[in-house]
Amino acid sequence: MIPYYPLYLNGEFRETKSRQGVVNPSSGEAIAEAAIASSGDVEAALDSARRAFDTGPWRKISLSERKSFLLKISKGIIEKAAELARLETLNTGKPIKESTFMDVPSAAKTFEHFANNLGRYLKDESLELENAKSHILHEPYGVVVLIVPWNYPLLIASWKLACALAAGNTVVLKPSSLTPLTALELAKIIDGAGLPRGVVNIIHASGDAIGEQLCADKRVDMISFTGSSEVGKKIIAYSAENVKKLIMELGGKSASIVLKDADLESALTGCLCSIFLNQGQMCTAMSRIFVEDELYDRFVKDFLEKAKRIKLGDGLDYQTQMGPLISASQRKKVIAYVEKAKAEGAKLSCGGKIPNVPMLRNGFFFEPTVFEDVSEKMSIFQEEVFGPVACLNRFSDLDGAIALVNGTDFALAASLWARDTEKAKDLAGKINAGIIWINTYGMFYNDLPYGGFKQSGFGKELGREGFLEYTRLKNIIIDQAKEAKPLVSYWYGF
Ligand code: NAD
Repeated sequence: MIPYYPLYLNGEFRETKSRQGVVNPSSGEAIAEAAIASSGDVEAALDSARRAFDTGPWRKISLSERKSFLLKISKGIIEKAAELARLETLNTGKPIKESTFMDVPSAAKTFEHFANNLGRYLKDESLELENAKSHILHEPYGVVVLIVPWNYPLLIASWKLACALAAGNTVVLKPSSLTPLTALELAKIIDGAGLPRGVVNIIHASGDAIGEQLCADKRVDMISFTGSSEVGKKIIAYSAENVKKLIMELGGKSASIVLKDADLESALTGCLCSIFLNQGQMCTAMSRIFVEDELYDRFVKDFLEKAKRIKLGDGLDYQTQMGPLISASQRKKVIAYVEKAKAEGAKLSCGGKIPNVPMLRNGFFFEPTVFEDVSEKMSIFQEEVFGPVACLNRFSDLDGAIALVNGTDFALAASLWARDTEKAKDLAGKINAGIIWINTYGMFYNDLPYGGFKQSGFGKELGREGFLEYTRLKNIIIDQAKEAKPLVSYWYGF
């Protein structure tokens, strides 16, 4: 018997008539069943979150009580860390080392960070002006819908939940229908932390089935979405009728630039990590790697050699360096990009196929793949593949390379590799991306804002700026005219 995960609605676990099998992408086998929310369940979740915000105790509790709830959630994650890491790996296929040492502890740290800093971040301001005093207050938005993708299910849900709750909102969280398990497990931790009824609601169903209902409803004040640009555009459209505050963290087509003075070893391992970690299923995946002419041949030789040695395997095996893609259909999409690139004339230098290894036969594995001679017109250069596919590009003209880096519809992230960090900083100023790493990749900090531009979205996650996205500013002005009457008294002259 496989475990069953109910929805979490209004402080109760709710079983539903329909349920969906959840698959382990390493083996293709069903590992659990998750309840599917009906339209009635969505209605109940929205109602519950609205009621909890408008009339429940949540808005009235002190900041220190809010802090203590968040710390309890963080502690709950730590206590269940091994179980959560295993579940995340079973459900996503990502190597257990990643879930154990990155995703789960980072999720706990995010709750802890926003618990410990919410008082500092929520500092209201008072201003003395001529004849007036102003109080600028940070208020929660109200009901926030959180929609998250499948590549970092627990971590991204935690980024959003921690900020939304620390700011005093109530939420409806919808995980991806491919990876609902850790979010539904988190519901148990949240329930154990004793948050007031209805503050957190976690529902699961396909985005197409319930997305519009969730995102168009008048009871919702804000939507925080992480996912593809395609779905992001739909959500913007759903939300337009009732005008909602949005955070959109969308797709990317990020690039690394390796300058000729770079430390070759760090640049190589950094670039490998930035495209093959999590099977390349990262919004910040550096799928285009621009290497300066003088270094190119050595870089390519070593990069290909190392890429071929990456060990594919079951996510639960500690020796595994790369797991399967999330689903058969994701693998199909990646294969279609690879075939199109070949047809368009790109040179396939490594990988490009399903591994011919009996033990991997039932999972959705795909080899680390590297293309050279990719032109800017090719789809593989312009579009997000979301798989382990790198394009290596030689350059001698730095300005030309920057133009190519900036020449897609996305603007999420970039990595620069150079010993001359002053030159790299100067270069960073010319790159159109929300986050730029110099001599590193993938460093996220709870204290620092993160988010992209152009079709990679808008709004920030994390840091004070990301946190304040979940608040609205209210300005209260008190007239202080001393001798004269306030100016408005004279307007009609009665
Ligand atoms: P997706 O857009 O297919 O799905 C994301 C979420 O939206 C899921 O929960 C899904 O069920 C839901 N959804 C789907 N259709 C919907 C609809 N019509 N209305 C409302 N919700 C709907 O993305 P994915 O395949 O889960 O994740 C991969 C994408 O996420 C990539 O494009 C990646 O770049 C992006 N991503 C971005 C960031 C970032 O911070 N910018 C981080 C991680 C992933």
